[in-house]
Amino acid sequence: MFDLAPTAVANILGDRLPPRVARAYRRFRYGPGAFKVDFAVADGVPWTAEPARRAGTVHVGGTFAEVAATERDIHAGRMPQRPFVLVGQQYLADPQRSVGNVHPVWTYAHVPNGYTGDATQAIIAQIERFAPGFRERIVGITERTTPGFAEYNPNYVGGNILTGAKNIPQLVFGPRTTLTPYDVGLPGHFLCSAATPPGPGAHGMCGANAADRALRYLRSARRF
Ligand SMILES: Cc1cc2nc3c(=O)[nH]c(=O)nc-3n(C[C@H](O)[C@H](O)[C@H](O)COP(=O)(O)OP(=O)(O)OC[C@H]3O[C@@H](n4cnc5c(N)ncnc54)[C@H](O)[C@@H]3O)c2cc1C
Repeated sequence: MFDLAPTAVANILGDRLPPRVARAYRRFRYGPGAFKVDFAVADGVPWTAEPARRAGTVHVGGTFAEVAATERDIHAGRMPQRPFVLVGQQYLADPQRSVGNVHPVWTYAHVPNGYTGDATQAIIAQIERFAPGFRERIVGITERTTPGFAEYNPNYVGGNILTGAKNIPQLVFGPRTTLTPYDVGLPGHFLCSAATPPGPGAHGMCGANAADRALRYLRSARRF
């Protein structure tokens, strides 16, 4: 069971992989990266919108037009001035994460794949737009860059935490156009990562479907 990016499977299996599968795996496309900044914030984020102060997750993007322009930029490989930022305020559900009035606030911005710059100030400025005074409340910062993500988990090629561009063909079929995307083309070998359908948003289903294929294989081979 390969819980891996298709390119890694192609590298590991090398010549053992049927050439058509190897070609598809090597052509697999990766999507935008993530740049993560975690903050320690005194008294939490001073969101202007009152409901956002009680929300576990806040998506900071501005208007629909701004979000669309930002996403267009990152898909074209340009770092936007005002990136889409996802903010996690998990301490609201789990107060033990805080120390006194200092709360952990997770954020990450969508950035171009392989982005090598520092998105920290752009993230702070984007939050500050909707929570004036945020900057003054920051008492600690840790960052994970796009190369840092790829180092932490090689599945995150170029910082792409969703393991692949989620365009329609890759979302529907995974790395190659087939009705059995979990089969890598070698008996008893299966791909079970978020690169396979239904993708990362439906947690666990890639693995469940791959496990189903593996069990069928074992039963048909009377190994189980
Ligand atoms: C900060 C963050 C926020 C996220 N938020 C969301 C969200 O809100 N919604 C959502 O749907 N998804 C989200 N994701 C993505 C989600 O976590 C992933 O899509 C999911 O974990 C992928 O699962 P997986 O089984 O494909 O592989 P992974 O969870 O990536 O597991 C693969 C494992 O294999 C290891 N590995 C890699 N290469 C090798 C190798 N060559 N040899 C041995 N081991 C190797 C890795 O270190 C890792 O432990 C987020 C990810 C991050 C980082």
